[in-house]
Amino acid sequence: MPEAPDTTAAVTVLSVVVPMYNEEEVLPALVSRLRPVLAGLGVGYEVVAVDDGSTDRTAELLAAFRLGWPELRVIGLRRNSGHQAALTAGLDRAHGAYVVSLDADLQDPPEKIPEMLELARAEGLDIVYGIRADRASDTGFKRWTAGLYYLLVRRLAGPSVPAQAGDFRLLSRAAVDALRALPDQQRVYRLLVPWLGFPSGRVTYERAPRPAGRSKYPLGRMIRLAVDSVTGFSAAPLRIATWLGGFAFLVCLTLMVYTLSAHALEHTVPGWTSLFTGVLFIGAVQLICVGLLGEYVGRIYTAVQNRPTYFIGHDTAQGEAGNRVVGPGGGHDAAHAGAAIPPPAEAGTPLPQGSSGVRT
Ligand code: UDP
Ligand code: MG
Repeated sequence: MPEAPDTTAAVTVLSVVVPMYNEEEVLPALVSRLRPVLAGLGVGYEVVAVDDGSTDRTAELLAAFRLGWPELRVIGLRRNSGHQAALTAGLDRAHGAYVVSLDADLQDPPEKIPEMLELARAEGLDIVYGIRADRASDTGFKRWTAGLYYLLVRRLAGPSVPAQAGDFRLLSRAAVDALRALPDQQRVYRLLVPWLGFPSGRVTYERAPRPAGRSKYPLGRMIRLAVDSVTGFSAAPLRIATWLGGFAFLVCLTLMVYTLSAHALEHTVPGWTSLFTGVLFIGAVQLICVGLLGEYVGRIYTAVQNRPTYFIGHDTAQGEAGNRVVGPGGGHDAAHAGAAIPPPAEAGTPLPQGSSGVRT
């Protein structure tokens, strides 16, 4: 099937990728703040709104806003795939010479985008991080868990990871292409981008409270992000097993000396408590170690399966008929690997496997 003509590719200097999941409450405010900022830049731009399988009126509102804002491009994913996968879909399809990723919830100010672009152009940078200078608006729990998260990942993935840099950042075309060429499946961009090590700068801002809607990162997803961050960048946790084993061995040696001398001195007592504690301790240590191994084996399994992390439902830049299944970029223009599949009404039917979307 021939590709539908791409309507925004020609003169796009800046793409702003905005993943959104059930953001109907905040969308009008986002449009009213983002649009004047981008219009004021005086360069060709597109806003790539990635609707991550929203179940509220997000898609409807986006379609309505598009009528009066031709630079708004809407990519609909067929199902909820998670923040990082939605970001991947946007990065894979953005056309701009520079690409800014921005959360939909206005916690990161769009007004900083011109500063980011100016800095990148003036100094020839590939990456400009948005650094949260002030998180006073976040809850104490969020600040505490975020502090712990950055401490952990900086220790494991190296100090090149800027603390308090979320997913508000600017990337050059070279950086985006480099990221797309990576084989990683469970992507955590806030670690992958610093790993690139391309020339980078920083713009600081105050993190605002969410003006509307709820956080889409409940505790479970935060833990998942932390586990993906750690296991994606370091094998150090595997070494915990060795250390725990060594520690348990030392404890056993001491206890052995004690039991042997107690036996020799005929001081043997029932000792149920110490025995039971020892058994529990060894059992717990073993389970932790098996769990750690499982995390890494799981990653290998996912990598070997090489399944797409998202499925494109439609992309307005390819005409409303651009109804394809598309996998992760991985350095290829995934759109060309897409196969036509039934319209959304039949989206519940099994998706074609193999030929479509899977990286070659
Ligand atoms: N998001 C998404 N898919 C999801 C969860 C979140 O695209 O499955 C988007 C969400 O709409 C928002 C961004 O990711 O634009 C960050 O989410 P959120 O603001 O809820 O996270 P928090 O700021 O609370 O960490
Ligand atoms: Mg947020």
